[in-house]
Amino acid sequence: MQRNRVYNFNPGPAILPLEVLEEFRDSFMNFGGMSIFEISHRGKEFQAMMDETIALFRELMGIPPHYHVLFLGGGASLQFSMVPMNIMDKTADHVLTGTWSKKALAEAKIIGSPKVIFSSEETKFSRVPRPEDVRPNSDASYVHITSNNTIYGSQYHVFPDTGLIPLVADMSSDILSYPFDVSKFGLIYAGAQKNLGPAGVTLVIIRDDLVKRSYRMVPVIMRYSTHAEEKSLYNTPPVSAIYLVNLVLKWVKRQGGVAAIEKHNREKAAMIYDVLDKSSFYKTPIEKDSRSFMNVVFTLPSDELTDRFVAKAKEQGMTGLKGHRTVGGVRASIYNAFPREGVKTLAQFMREFERAQ
Ligand SMILES: *Cc1c(COP(=O)(O)O)cnc(C)c1O
Repeated sequence: MQRNRVYNFNPGPAILPLEVLEEFRDSFMNFGGMSIFEISHRGKEFQAMMDETIALFRELMGIPPHYHVLFLGGGASLQFSMVPMNIMDKTADHVLTGTWSKKALAEAKIIGSPKVIFSSEETKFSRVPRPEDVRPNSDASYVHITSNNTIYGSQYHVFPDTGLIPLVADMSSDILSYPFDVSKFGLIYAGAQKNLGPAGVTLVIIRDDLVKRSYRMVPVIMRYSTHAEEKSLYNTPPVSAIYLVNLVLKWVKRQGGVAAIEKHNREKAAMIYDVLDKSSFYKTPIEKDSRSFMNVVFTLPSDELTDRFVAKAKEQGMTGLKGHRTVGGVRASIYNAFPREGVKTLAQFMREFERAQ
């Protein structure tokens, strides 16, 4: 394995722990005389690995027994449709905090008549709502939020209390990065390729009563009930992606679990925000209490300087720092697997770059 890895700040697919990649390299051929790519998803090797992966999720996240843990295909984007198809009666409440939450709303509109109960679009998505900003309508089938806004760089640090109305969260870019109370949610979904593993598998955590909802005709493969009843084996699941997720979960456990991971994440993010707060050269468009610990977004005084910053960082072994094309600026995605030394290197580089201007 290549030891001279770059510091990969890509937003997703994103960095995986080197330890996990090495473990994968050393073990992927060892599945009863076959590789992980060749085994049957109905065989006992796979079943044992799948059971272990679900048990690890339950343990690490404290998922209560009345929730199902499903592995689906189609990415987080498919959940934008599956959620309203399955659990929206006539309307649902959406919170708009960025690009992904807008996409979720657009899909819900195809199925029914969702309402927007909060949006920060007027201030270019500079913040997530405070708890008191989220007042669900009584006829809403659920409230949909995006816990971390991967493109704009904002994140919830307090979740809204929606009472008896189920809270549904797209947690694609911050799942497993801090402990939280799963029982406050009706449904959580996350594409794996930011914090959990490679692209190709999506985690869905859904409360049992929501699996049983049925308001309309839904194709069999699009029903949560199908995947819950078949234990994610209705069709061939992404076997090798699930195996990598398994190895990532064991790595999280070795780090001391999700609480230890959160501590690391907070320390890493603080190193960059500290540079931003002490600078008049760099600016962050996100309000302080909404700052993301996963995707740190900031701007430089001009596009020219931004391009030079990104190019120079790349020369020094830091890639993936260019902001999303719709937002511009710089984005440092520092997910769970991103090493502390890499963040330190970036913070140092930022100070030097500013001084050189
Ligand atoms: C990346 C991302 C998505 C899209 O995930 P796909 O797996 O490409 O469908 C959705 N929501 C959030 C918050 C994301 O970060």
